[in-house]
Amino acid sequence: MSALPNCPQCNSEYTYEDRGLFICPECGNEWSADANATEETAGLVVKDSNGNLLADGDSVTVIKDLKVKGASGAIKQGTKVKNIRLVEGDHNIDCKVDGFGPMKLKSEFVKKN
Ligand SMILES: [Zn+2]
Repeated sequence: MSALPNCPQCNSEYTYEDRGLFICPECGNEWSADANATEETAGLVVKDSNGNLLADGDSVTVIKDLKVKGASGAIKQGTKVKNIRLVEGDHNIDCKVDGFGPMKLKSEFVKKN
């Protein structure tokens, strides 16, 4: 996570990235990442329902039934999802779910295995 820049205002190293913005938790400063950086997920902070950090390639378990647009069924609670990829946005986990195919999930509805 050392790839993130220090806060330009207070020089804090505890900055994090959220939806294309860098945010400093110490002084509340927010500034925009450069356009290229939004393509990368290296600095993305995505946490599961327990507050554990998730990373690309992690396996997670779905913690509640999730309705899927365009599918007849729902993804059942307890479904295991392998090899997730973190992405920007509201649905911040890109993955493939057995029986459903590629889709995006919200990190708040999964827990890390
Ligand atoms: Zn700061």
